[in-house]
Amino acid sequence: MRSVWGDLVVNLGLSEEQAAVRQLARDFVEREIAPHVVAWDRAEEVDRGIVKKLGDIGFLGLTIDEEYGGSGGDHLAYCLVTEELGRGDSSVRGIVSVSLGLVAKTIAAWGGEEQKRRWLPGLTAGEYVGCFGLTEPGTGSDAGSLTTRAVRDGDEYVVNGSKMFITNGTWADVVLLFARSTDAPGHKGVSAFLIPTDTPGLTRRTIHGKLGLRGQATAELVLQDVRVPASAMVGAEGKGFNVAMSALAKGRMSVAAGCVGIAQAALDAAVAYAGEREQFGTPIAHHQLVQELLSDIAVDVDAARLLTWRVADLIDRGEPFAVESSKAKLFASEAAVRAANNALQVFGGYGYIDEYPVGKLLRDARVMTLYEGTSQIQKLLIGRALTGVSAF
Ligand code: FAD
Repeated sequence: MRSVWGDLVVNLGLSEEQAAVRQLARDFVEREIAPHVVAWDRAEEVDRGIVKKLGDIGFLGLTIDEEYGGSGGDHLAYCLVTEELGRGDSSVRGIVSVSLGLVAKTIAAWGGEEQKRRWLPGLTAGEYVGCFGLTEPGTGSDAGSLTTRAVRDGDEYVVNGSKMFITNGTWADVVLLFARSTDAPGHKGVSAFLIPTDTPGLTRRTIHGKLGLRGQATAELVLQDVRVPASAMVGAEGKGFNVAMSALAKGRMSVAAGCVGIAQAALDAAVAYAGEREQFGTPIAHHQLVQELLSDIAVDVDAARLLTWRVADLIDRGEPFAVESSKAKLFASEAAVRAANNALQVFGGYGYIDEYPVGKLLRDARVMTLYEGTSQIQKLLIGRALTGVSAF
């Protein structure tokens, strides 16, 4: 099936390989994730063994060349796997979106040969976990004004500063870290570095008490006189912000795909419950206002999925995709919150306790409108593209 959106032609069908990858992901979620979701959420920790299993099945190597241990595949396959993982547990989905999506894929795109050989086989195999260190306690949306400093000293840089809300932070073996290494103004002074997390001077603190994504190891990183070789720099000096922004442009597609998974899970759960639960002598699915809730979720699922697949299609065809990725992330994250909230309404009071899945879906969805650029920041990116005027 082919469809035309504006001047974009998008293939909406799945190839046999893509359909097989999606089935593989569905089976993996059923077997390895679904039985543990509630326990992991309550314990505030996903079983770390899941990372190796994700590596063994090839989900941490999608889109990466086989030469570096990757499993190949295109971005639509990556979206399909991400959606299924998000449908199962957003905490697990986030591990992949960061370790593969923000770290391994960025090394593949920007790293030197030695960096690729050093890090990619371990990251794609699930032997290493990667994290992405951009946000700081004082700089979130305005990431270009970050204050972590990297000062040149012979063949090394000495790094001082701290990073906040870092997904995979306490698990990670390597951090892709952004620091100011020259006096150039604003983001032009920022460079990217690959730093092993066991480097002396780097300490980590787990952030507890999150509303959602409770199974994920989110951390604050503190760097005190951390010495890294100059060869740890990714891309050229002063190009670190470009590295970060290009990582996030693809990353937003991955977040959007995870949101589609949340919304789909909300739909599945709400339809099933509405068919079973009886009130006023009939299943609640027979009440028109319940059908309105269900149909609102269904439309959000389809619209979010189509916007997300469009980004994958653009990337795979080598077309510009960053603005479309912002649109997909903006819509899909808001849609996931709406869908989970509508599903909770269908469940009534039972939706409010964690024996039923929809409360967790809502808690997990909420952060998607915040990270990798808040909804307001996505609107400014889209607005800039439309008007040519930066309103940041
Ligand atoms: P702020 O930037 O302080 O924003 C506060 C509010 O002001 C928001 O509503 C925002 O939209 C609004 N605002 C700010 N500027 C403008 C503007 N110009 N116009 C209109 N509104 C504006 N970061 C990483 O680097 N790596 C990670 O792995 C990572 N994982 C995360 C995991 C979790 C669970 C969370 C909660 C965050 C994570 N983050 C990570 C950080 C995340 O990307 C930031 O929280 C996000 O970018 C927002 O920054 P902030 O929290 O400082 O909010």
